[in-house]
This record gives sequence, structure tokens and C-alpha cells, in this order.
Amino acid sequence: MTHHLDFDGKVALVTGAGSGIGEACARRLAEGGAQVLVVDLDEDGGSRVADDLGDAARFFAADVSSPEANEAMVAAAVDAFGGLDIAVNNAGIGGAQAPTGEYPIDSWQQVIDVNLTGVFLGMRHEIPAMRERGGGSIVNIASILGSVAFATSPAYVAAKHGVVGLTKSAALEHAADGIRVNSIGPAFINTPLLEANLEQEVLDQLAGMHPIGRLGEADEVAQFVAFLASDAASFVTGSYHLVDGGYTAQ
Ligand code: NAP
Repeated sequence: MTHHLDFDGKVALVTGAGSGIGEACARRLAEGGAQVLVVDLDEDGGSRVADDLGDAARFFAADVSSPEANEAMVAAAVDAFGGLDIAVNNAGIGGAQAPTGEYPIDSWQQVIDVNLTGVFLGMRHEIPAMRERGGGSIVNIASILGSVAFATSPAYVAAKHGVVGLTKSAALEHAADGIRVNSIGPAFINTPLLEANLEQEVLDQLAGMHPIGRLGEADEVAQFVAFLASDAASFVTGSYHLVDGGYTAQ
């Protein structure tokens, strides 16, 4: 059974919405009645999703690691739809795979820039826009790797742990402004990011590491994101929410 949360009159932006989890989040929010700014570095993916969602959505091309692009992204949501109520900071990359003692320094920097600094820069501009509106809800997409490690992804693990802490800080600072800030910890989700980085054999092995016995689907993450974004989650802030098929319970 599908429940649609009510986002009538709400304005949302979702980064990395041209693919995977971000796309599923943009679809859920739009289905609930939100107007959605679909933000992505990938113009083909981003415009495909925005076109598909119709009048309620616009595409905005931005690299979330750029301060100027984040400022322009929030301004675009306000210009197009009159304000900002919901932000899903989702854009992220996997980065190189190597142990810490051999990790390429340029990949470290790139992963931190996109996966951690990108979330800071997003919130840096989303929060002032939400204050103007009298409140809002921010959902940052971390990972199970925001609370446990995975060998050969030190930059990703560090960035995602950082997102969990950054989420808590922003939640404390802006609770009185009516802005809720939460993070999500998905386990391995069946998206292009995973398929692009891992061989089928590794994907099968990963599926077996989840007590539920399979990888997650993007919409299974998006449903939780939509709940946190909605007024139904009015007493939920500063917390980290696993969507992990039991992965970290082991
Ligand atoms: P995805 O399918 O690769 O989608 C990510 C989207 O973000 C892509 O369209 C990508 O464009 C875009 N993007 C990449 N760098 C960007 C940047 N600097 N600025 C703006 N957009 C950018 O990935 P996904 O699996 O849905 O992952 C989404 C988020 O969930 C990430 O933060 C990821 O770390 C997190 N997550 C994923 C999993 C998983 O198993 N899939 C698990 C836990 C957490 P390009 O295609 O052009 O790069």
C-alpha cells in the first residue's frame, strides 16, 4: 500500500536528483504535491527527471562542491517557487577504493568536497531561506558508513560520519527557528552509483550481508526521507535514521 504524505504548497529541492536515491526522493515529494527543484551535475539525468515530473518541477544544474552553485541553487528555488521548505542534500560520489595507507590524496579531497562540504554548503544557504519561511525540514543522505566502516573507502566513511555530526550541529542551532535537520543511513541500495563501482559478484556478496537478504531499493529510502520532510515528523530532529535491512544490527 502506498501512502502519500501531504506536501501541498511546499517547495523542495533535492540534490543529485537526476539518478538513484535523489530521483526517488524528488518523485515522492512531487507525488505528495510539492514543487521540486531537481538539482544535479548531470544535465541529462536531471532534465529527464524534471521533465517527467512536469510543471511542478524544474531542473537546475549545480555542482554541490561549489559555494556559488549552492547559493544559486537556493536562489533558483526561491525565484521559481517563492521560497524553500524542504531540502534533501543527497548528491554524493563513491571515490577511489584503496586502504588508508595507499589512498589517493586527490580522491580524498574530491570525496570530502562533494559528500561532506557539499552538505555544509547546501545547508549554509538552505537555512537562511527556510528562516524566512518560518521553518523547514532538511534531510541529509549519509549512509550506514556514517556509523560503521567499510574497508577501502576511508574518504567516504569519514565524509559520511561527518555528515551525521554536521546534521546534529545544525539541528541544535536551528531548532528554535522551526528547522528540523536529520540524516539517513541507507545500507547498500540498488542504484547506478553501486552498479558503476562494483562487479556483479561483489553486488551479490553485498546483498548477502543484509539480514533481509537483498540490496535496498531507492524508493525504500525515499519513503523515509519523505516522512522526515513532512509535518508528520514534527518532533524528529538531530537524529540519524538507518534504512539498512538489518545490516548494522549484526
Ligand atoms: P547515483 O545514482 O550516482 O546518483 C547521484 C547523483 O548525484 C548523480 O546524478 C550524480 O551525477 C550526482 N552528483 C554527483 N556529484 C555531484 C555534484 N558534485 N553535484 C551535484 N550532483 C552530483 O547515487 P545514489 O546511489 O543514488 O546515491 C545518492 C546518495 O546516497 C549519495 O550521497 C550516496 O553516498 C548515498 N548512499 C548511497 C548508497 C547506495 O548504496 N547507493 C548507500 C548509502 C548512501 P553523475 O552521475 O554525473 O555523477
